[in-house]
Amino acid sequence: MRQFMDPVTESLSELHERIGALRGGEVASYIPKLAQADPDDFGIALTSMAGHRYQAGKADAHFSIQSVSKPFVYALALTDLGPDEMLRRVGAEPSGEAFNAISLEPGTGRPANPMVNAGAIATTALVKAADPEERSARILDWLSAFAGRRLDHDEEVYASEAASGDRNRALAYLMRSAGSLDDDPYSVTDTYFRQCAVRVTAADLAVMAATLAKGGLNPCTGERVVTQDVAVRTLAIMATCGMYDGAGQWLLNVGLPAKSGVAGGLIAASPGRFGVALYSPPLDAEGNSVRGVAALTEMSERFALHLMHAPVHLTATVTDTVHAARSSRVRDPGQAAALDRDGRRIAVVGAQGDLEFTETEQLLNAVAHVVPADPGGVVLDLTAVTAVGAGPATMLAATLADLEHRGHQVAVAVQQPFLKDAVGHPGRWTDTRDDAVAWCEDRFLTERPAAS
Ligand code: GLN
Repeated sequence: MRQFMDPVTESLSELHERIGALRGGEVASYIPKLAQADPDDFGIALTSMAGHRYQAGKADAHFSIQSVSKPFVYALALTDLGPDEMLRRVGAEPSGEAFNAISLEPGTGRPANPMVNAGAIATTALVKAADPEERSARILDWLSAFAGRRLDHDEEVYASEAASGDRNRALAYLMRSAGSLDDDPYSVTDTYFRQCAVRVTAADLAVMAATLAKGGLNPCTGERVVTQDVAVRTLAIMATCGMYDGAGQWLLNVGLPAKSGVAGGLIAASPGRFGVALYSPPLDAEGNSVRGVAALTEMSERFALHLMHAPVHLTATVTDTVHAARSSRVRDPGQAAALDRDGRRIAVVGAQGDLEFTETEQLLNAVAHVVPADPGGVVLDLTAVTAVGAGPATMLAATLADLEHRGHQVAVAVQQPFLKDAVGHPGRWTDTRDDAVAWCEDRFLTERPAAS
């Protein structure tokens, strides 16, 4: 009997089986130890925003992180330096060059691209530390926080790269002579080699990518590893520079921020959805994993993950609008008569779901349609609203202030207290629509009391 498999694992397994048959590419050999990798090793792992972990194939096989470390160490240096200083020291331009290119800007010697070796070595040197040991330790701690478990070094890979890393040392000496590297080039490249030799599995890398996809929050440990801003900037760098001289075509075909490494690791982040990682050592001419690229290209197409895909809005935001509402409150005859006599009406708009720009624009449009021309009452029933983005919260607050300014009594009904905090408007907030309408009526009665 066929065993039950959840649909995510099933789709990863199917992809693993089919793409696993793909041949071609070369296992990297310029770092001698890497040449011993098994070209048939192939693992896929995915971590969702809820922290669920899925995998197929050899997702627990260990390999060295290599250049997949670059975006994470970039995030560390960015956190240490802040965005302006970071950009002053290392550019953010896809240089369209190979990973080991001598890619320095004329004049300043600033490395243009933080995801190729020159820029990455300069970035490693920017990580704040009193000495090289502390810098290496901070980098390992940092990568471990992204992975959600204690990582270690592959000492053999480190020794192998250190013994054969003259080209990277040459790049570092060049940067030092150009003024773009302050530290000792030999020691900085040593730290960089240790960074590249951190041992991971595809399952680890998926969690690391998911942490970026979740705005810097590790979905498995719940730890905030970086700020939302650092996560966004890091993903942007991955989107433009992550795939070396294949970066442009990658964004065109796959449309996801990604980063590859010479040991065969490859990560991609689908913001707000998941992090995915692949491990397969044979590389294409650009230095990207052949099976990794093929698998991610398919996944992106199958699940419509391309960043430029317009998101589909399936739910209607506005649930109902009421032209002139009355509350269920029992009024004494005088008050009831006063409210009947009062020409002012109370308009209500109900909304549901998550409010992002598109939803909020719909909601505010409905408000504009139903709001009384003369001063009256306006009630926003947001009791079925589940979340509001930062930009939309500002739009809502501005609308509430504007309605009050125009002389309306304005009340908002919410079930979730965080919505009130997010919008930050000081006006009237109630738990139910009926209370909000009743509050408007009370205001009317205070302004024009019932004749006694
Ligand atoms: N350690 C490797 C190097 O500097 C990293 C390169 C890579 O993964 N593309 O050569």
